Amino acid sequence: MNEHYKFQNVPLPYKYNGLEPYIDAKTVMLHHDRHLQSYVDNLNKILKDYKALQNLSLEQLIIYSNKLPREIRTEVKNNAGGIYNHIFYFNGMCNAELKAPKGKLADKINEQFGCFDNFKNEFKKYALSVFGSGYAWLVSDMRGNIKIVTTANQDTPIAYNLIPILCIDVWEHAYYLKHYNKRNDYIEDWFNVVNWNRAEKIYERI
Ligand code: MN
Repeated sequence: MNEHYKFQNVPLPYKYNGLEPYIDAKTVMLHHDRHLQSYVDNLNKILKDYKALQNLSLEQLIIYSNKLPREIRTEVKNNAGGIYNHIFYFNGMCNAELKAPKGKLADKINEQFGCFDNFKNEFKKYALSVFGSGYAWLVSDMRGNIKIVTTANQDTPIAYNLIPILCIDVWEHAYYLKHYNKRNDYIEDWFNVVNWNRAEKIYERI
């Protein structure tokens, strides 16, 4: 990913079929090569005529979106958010053996949720509660306190001063081909491909 305009799609950290049998290759391909790609193309198209904004990073475009020219504010927020969220989501998965965190994040989850299974149930509840399109996130504040939040559409927690640790995309395009309308089954499958090493690393840097 370029730091700023002109933005480029980033390659997946695994093959299209790298998350099978939990998330199918066709979904991963369409999701990355078409859905994410359109956010990249749209954002570049919007910024093409706004030279002054072309040095801003993706994060800056999201965090300061309400200071941008009024006529492009919403579009920038949606498309920059679409890129940020999707890259975070794709990088947050892998076909790993580790099915739960280990280390500082694991300790914090136990401290705040009692145990990993409680956390998992809570997270599922949040992910199921998203009405329409959006995401569920595990986030941290600046002091390392964690919580689960949801965002609508392509909103992102970094706009609210929260540090993302983990996210699940619950837009229907993320699961419809394999799981049809059964979001619950998709969430259950997603828990098998969470990249806990990455989540731990992010949390340890806070
Ligand atoms: Mn998506």
